[in-house]
Amino acid sequence: MSNKQTVYWTVDKNIDNLNKLNEIKEAALWIKEGEVVAFPTETVYGLGGNALIDEAIEKIFRAKGRPSDNPLIVHVASKDQVRMLVSEIPDRAEKLMDAFWPGPLTIVLPSNHSVSPRVTANLHTIAIRIPDHPVALALLEEANVPVAAPSANVSGKPSPTTAQHVKHDLNGRIKGIVDGGQTGVGVESTVVDCTEAVPVILRPGGITKNQLEHVVGPVKVDPALEQEGSTPRSPGVKYTHYAPNAEMYLVEQYTQRMQQVVDEFRNAGKRVGVLTTHEGASNYEADLVIPCGFRKDLETVATHLYGTLRQFDEHEIDLILAETFPKEGVGVAIMNRLEKAAGKKVI
Ligand code: AMP
Ligand code: MG
Repeated sequence: MSNKQTVYWTVDKNIDNLNKLNEIKEAALWIKEGEVVAFPTETVYGLGGNALIDEAIEKIFRAKGRPSDNPLIVHVASKDQVRMLVSEIPDRAEKLMDAFWPGPLTIVLPSNHSVSPRVTANLHTIAIRIPDHPVALALLEEANVPVAAPSANVSGKPSPTTAQHVKHDLNGRIKGIVDGGQTGVGVESTVVDCTEAVPVILRPGGITKNQLEHVVGPVKVDPALEQEGSTPRSPGVKYTHYAPNAEMYLVEQYTQRMQQVVDEFRNAGKRVGVLTTHEGASNYEADLVIPCGFRKDLETVATHLYGTLRQFDEHEIDLILAETFPKEGVGVAIMNRLEKAAGKKVI
C-alpha cells in the first residue's frame, strides 16, 4: 500500500483546547481529505475515514482486511450532525442519545443515504455514535465530517486498546496513528437498533441492557446473540472476532478444574496460558498466568481483556485457558468477546 510511513502523533488527552494542537489539526485534515487515521475512543482505538468519500472507506476495508458486507459505525461530534445522516430520529432514540451520549452506545437509525454506500454495506440503516473521548471529539470537530471508524485492528484479531496495538497490526498500512494513551472501557460499544418500536440490542457492549431499559423501557436482544444458527441482524456479528493466534478454551467450573486441565495440556507438550483475575492468579501454575482485572469489578476485566489476549500471543503461548464470568452487566459483553475469541470452545 501507499502508506509505507505511518505518521505517529502523540497527544496528551488531558490538556485543554485539544483542537488547537497541530497534531490534531493535521490528523483531522488527513481524515477530511480521504486518508485513514487511527485514534483513541473511550472503548477501543478506531480507524477513521471520511464517511462521505468512497475511496476513504475502501482504504479502511483494505487496511483491516475486513469483509465488505460488514458495515461501519459512523462517529460524529454532535446531535446536529446525526440529523444530517438519518431520515428520522424516533423518540426512543432521542432519549437514548440524551442519556448515553457521548458514550459507548451505537444507535441504528433509518439512513438518508448521504454517506458512502460502502459504509452501510448497502443497508437502509446507519449506525451512529458520539464517542466520549477528548481526542476523538477534538478530531471529529476539526474534521467536521462524519467519520466511519471500525476498530483499528486486522480483521478477526483482538481490538486495540493502545496505540502500540494499532502499530503492531497496521503500521505501514494507514496514514497515521494518534496516540492518546490506553482506552478506558476496553470493549466496543453496545449496538442498539432503534428502527422498530421496541429497541433491539444487536451487540452487547459498554452500556448494559438494564441501563437501556431504565431509559426507554423494554429492550429486546437479537436472538442470534444467544442462539446458534439464526441469522444475526448485525452483519458483522457472524464473523470470527477478537481471536488471538493461540488456540483458546473457556473453562467452566474453573475453581475445581482449571489446574487439572492446564496439567493435561502441558503433559501433551503445549505451552499453556491461563487468563484469570487478580483474585485467582495465585491458584495456578502454568507457562504464563495473566490476571485480567479484578473479578469483583468486571469493568476492570473489560478494560484489560484485549490487551491480555495480545500478551499471550507475544509470549508465544500455544493454548489459552480462560476463566468464565457471570453474564451480568458488562459481564455479558466480556463473555460475548471471550466466546468469540475461543470460537465457542468450552471445557
Ligand atoms: P466494529 O466497527 O468492528 O466495531 O463493528 C461494527 C458493528 O456494528 C458490527 O457488528 C456491524 O455489523 C454493526 N453495524 C454497523 N452498521 C450497522 C447497521 N446499519 N445495522 C446493523 N448493524 C450495524
Ligand atoms: Mg472490530
